[in-house]
Amino acid sequence: MTDIINIAIDGPAGAGKSTISRRAAEHFGFIYVDTGALYRAVGINALRLGLDTSNHDFVGGTLDGLEVSLRFVGGAQRVYLFDEDVSEEIRTPKASMAASDVSAIPSVREFLFDLQRDIAAKNNCVMDGRDIGTVVLPEADVKIFLTASPERRAERRCAELSEKGIKQDFEKVLAEMIQRDYNDSHREIAPLKAADDAILVDTTDMSLEQSLDAVISIIKEKIAHEGI
Ligand code: C5P
Repeated sequence: MTDIINIAIDGPAGAGKSTISRRAAEHFGFIYVDTGALYRAVGINALRLGLDTSNHDFVGGTLDGLEVSLRFVGGAQRVYLFDEDVSEEIRTPKASMAASDVSAIPSVREFLFDLQRDIAAKNNCVMDGRDIGTVVLPEADVKIFLTASPERRAERRCAELSEKGIKQDFEKVLAEMIQRDYNDSHREIAPLKAADDAILVDTTDMSLEQSLDAVISIIKEKIAHEGI
């Protein structure tokens, strides 16, 4: 039994995971670990090398000597590819698809596994991803699966991108989201699915604040219940 508290939040793209996880982490004074950023970093590295991001051999070949790391500045996560901060570059739609492609490659998942486990072993954290409750932290203290309808998620993603000055067509974002959901939930390795002991939160008809309140209450209750 350790004193470290790990909260696993999984779910599809656009369910509000990253904002809710980050704010829940702030609420409890934990660090927020966005594991999608790691897959995105591996993806843009392959894109920069001009590789087909779905080719297992090509992408697998980039892992030897590859350095991907997370640094936490005042609790905020930055992602590094070697010594370069790629936290902004990994957010483009191209990087999203590349991340989805490389995340289906077993050697990539293995490559990122220890890094995620090490952070969780040393820090109270809220970690978000697709397989945190099922594979990375099966012993997490709290597991939440956040979801919402694809249309609602595409709407949110468009709003998020437009805030960053990236204009995107709704239909295109929706199609990419559905494609990414399909890839993520049908891949052979660590597919997107709720852990048996995860608590499901459907945010389709909830505002961000309502979703955040729901998640914070679940965490509080679970932690109090288990006497952590
Ligand atoms: O969460 P985010 O949209 O940044 O994740 C990008 C991609 O990385 C996802 O589409 C998914 O394929 C992959 N991913 C994953 N496992 C995680 C986190 C992300 O497979 N734990």
